[in-house]
Amino acid sequence: MVDKDCMGWSEVLRNGSVVIEGDKIAAVGPSSKVARDYTSFDATIDGQRTIVLPGFVNAHAHVAGSFLRGLLEDIPNHFYGYALPLEKFLTPDAIRTFSLVGAVEALRFGVTCINDHYYHSDQVARAFVASGIRGVVAETVLDVDMAKLKDGKYKHNLDAGMKALETNARLVRDWSGRGDGRISCRIGVHATDTCSKELLLASNEMAQKLGVGIHMHLAQTAKEVDYVRRTYGKGAVEYLGDLGILSDRIVAAHLNYAKDSELSLLSNYKVGAVQCPTIYGKMCVKSKLDWFAEQGVPCGLGTDWLSMDIWDNMRSAIGISRTLTGREVLTAQKVLEFATIGSAKVLGMDSSIGSIEPGKKADLVILNTKSAHMSPLRNPIQNAVYYASAGDVEYVFVNGERVVDSGRTTQISEEEVVQQAQALAEQIWGKLPYPANKFIL
Ligand SMILES: [Zn+2]
Repeated sequence: MVDKDCMGWSEVLRNGSVVIEGDKIAAVGPSSKVARDYTSFDATIDGQRTIVLPGFVNAHAHVAGSFLRGLLEDIPNHFYGYALPLEKFLTPDAIRTFSLVGAVEALRFGVTCINDHYYHSDQVARAFVASGIRGVVAETVLDVDMAKLKDGKYKHNLDAGMKALETNARLVRDWSGRGDGRISCRIGVHATDTCSKELLLASNEMAQKLGVGIHMHLAQTAKEVDYVRRTYGKGAVEYLGDLGILSDRIVAAHLNYAKDSELSLLSNYKVGAVQCPTIYGKMCVKSKLDWFAEQGVPCGLGTDWLSMDIWDNMRSAIGISRTLTGREVLTAQKVLEFATIGSAKVLGMDSSIGSIEPGKKADLVILNTKSAHMSPLRNPIQNAVYYASAGDVEYVFVNGERVVDSGRTTQISEEEVVQQAQALAEQIWGKLPYPANKFIL
């Protein structure tokens, strides 16, 4: 499958072959032609009844957020009251372990690149290097006490924010280019309400000084948007625009509470927008992917936290959109594009990843289609998007390395990581300030 451009691509090449040389794709074409051009290989994979896809790019995630599984999914309005206060129980070691879980999980779903945003992000970077995945890391920069937001208390502490920004700058200096070039960094601005105006401006300046982009949440919650309107008399997107921060170096996740006019403003500034349909569907919020599809504006797909399941997100996006609009704006081809080249584009990485083209990095997924639930195979795009899941991901390549082989991660042991994470999670659950039954509905 070869993507020519970001929009309106998806050429399916049947009976094709892909040649990898080093960390790059050397050739893509009909198998008969490739067999004539290349006569010997170090290794080959028989692609009969498989679908080869570009590696998925998760454009907004907090991989270590897996530690929250089973704690809050069915609790209404859990975000400020439960989720954010719980993050303080995460030590750097815990973040590394849960990031390993997230990285392994992502690879098993066929995700080859994650744009992550979290605390102690050097540990996230460490986990990405160890797992073989490609990653963009950013330290969360904010200057409010997150645990107090549930009561509507915004007390900004600029010194604390500047310290976080300095930690982020160290991350950029220490980790950019590590893991054979797989790691890159951004400044992880938290949001327009959790950062003071001074911190937003300082973060933007730091990003420019270091020559990196910003990864942030924007118009994510009603609380954020209300706070900005109350304090500055404008919408969150408009506020950032007036501060001179909007540009193509910004990746803005969620936009749940941005009006269509604000989405247009973002696209005028070429801000990279990301949507996370599954998690917000659970929180009674519809993604805006259909707006991006209709306007022909690139958009990235992300999973946010709790799950790295990109297949679930592609399908949720379609199901929720069609249920609520009664229209088939989103299609398998469209969401597949958002999850690959669309995400690569919003990260400014589309010249090297996001599609299967000679000269790009060899980040590929090989799906086995021999299972009953994948048969019969007629349209590879529709079969992949509507019916595939992690169990069908047989091989994953990142930078030309086989990081999943026959459905198993090759760089680190999934069993060991899962055991460590379970033990650590049980320790954390024992320290929670709420009665355990509070979490069990
Ligand atoms: Zn997020």
